[in-house]
Amino acid sequence: METKKCKQCGEEKPIEAFRPYRSRSTGIRKTTTGHSTLCKQCESFNAMVTVAYKANPRSDAQQELVDKATLVYKHQLASGLDPKGALANSLRVTHDKVSAADKYIEREQQKMGGVSITTLELRALAEAPVDEDTESKLWKLMDDCNDGKDDPEQQELINRVEDKIKAYDNEQSKINNSKDTASL
Ligand SMILES: [Zn+2]
Repeated sequence: METKKCKQCGEEKPIEAFRPYRSRSTGIRKTTTGHSTLCKQCESFNAMVTVAYKANPRSDAQQELVDKATLVYKHQLASGLDPKGALANSLRVTHDKVSAADKYIEREQQKMGGVSITTLELRALAEAPVDEDTESKLWKLMDDCNDGKDDPEQQELINRVEDKIKAYDNEQSKINNSKDTASL
């Protein structure tokens, strides 16, 4: 049985699952010259999504389809597949830009002697003034680097940010206390 792999869903399917191409030139008209790169299921899904995507305004159902299709297309792009259609194309532009940016960052990191993004983020956090989000940012970074246990610089930066957060919390509670006193 002849099969073919769909470029969008990645599934290996019997050749009948793909729309045949017919040559447009005279003489070999109506001769099958190949098959679509996407299976029929993916093609009809893309057609439905395109209608919803281009609708203006979109009904609730159309918006829901666009939202769900966005997740599916993003996943397919991330898996190296090649979804088609207007929505998938608009996502591909973002996806390609992000990958290009990631590659650039990777190259620059090499030049910096392999300093990790987490270290760069910790350095920035250590320099920036503390605000309400600082603590949650620090937690996330500590997760990323396993509390900095393997890296003395990260550990040192974590300690510095923690001290700043403590100082900030003290400052805030002083302000709140004086407000409470004032309101009495
Ligand atoms: Zn498919």
